Amino acid sequence: MVNHPLIQHKLTQMRRKETPSPTFRQLLTETSLLLAYEVTRELALDQVRVETPLVSMEAPQLVDVPVVVSILRAGNGLLEGVLQVLPEARVGHVGLYRDHETLEAVEYYCKFPPLADRMVILVDPMLATGNSATAALDRVKAESPAAIRFLCLLAAPEGIAAVHAAHPDVAVWTAAVDERLSEVGYILPGLGDAGDRIYGTT
Ligand code: URA
Repeated sequence: MVNHPLIQHKLTQMRRKETPSPTFRQLLTETSLLLAYEVTRELALDQVRVETPLVSMEAPQLVDVPVVVSILRAGNGLLEGVLQVLPEARVGHVGLYRDHETLEAVEYYCKFPPLADRMVILVDPMLATGNSATAALDRVKAESPAAIRFLCLLAAPEGIAAVHAAHPDVAVWTAAVDERLSEVGYILPGLGDAGDRIYGTT
């Protein structure tokens, strides 16, 4: 769990039902930027030679920029801030919606840049049942990436357990783990439907 005070403060503002869409979106962008900072903390560095205006030196540079994959549509709310700290990242999208009866993930779109041997950061704000995350991870893994990190804002214990059961090698990064899922698959206490709150579709 990423316990940074700024992240926790912003998450609380996002939970408030009276927070309007533009504010919610702005807070999510700011939070995802901070989460991206944490999730990339241990990326490998190489020493490269650079010429400063004064001298030549060996300086650290990322060995590889991770690929970011967003689970549509709410994932795009997290993508924004992640790209602010990783502007060189290539981006994939996987479109999944939740069947409201079965809560199963149904794929309607998928477009990835090359993922083989790359580090992938998969983003989706809400890890609820884990069905979408697991389906997206299956899709990403089929491309043989070197490693995958799952980045979300809020998780339910059930979602974390589902991802760990299906993909024990994938580390989950989240700002908070809430109490439980409701009967219809919402995270409680949660913040409601992240996509609706980002895009004002309620
Ligand atoms: N997706 C959301 O947007 N909110 C939830 O609480 C669960 C899944």
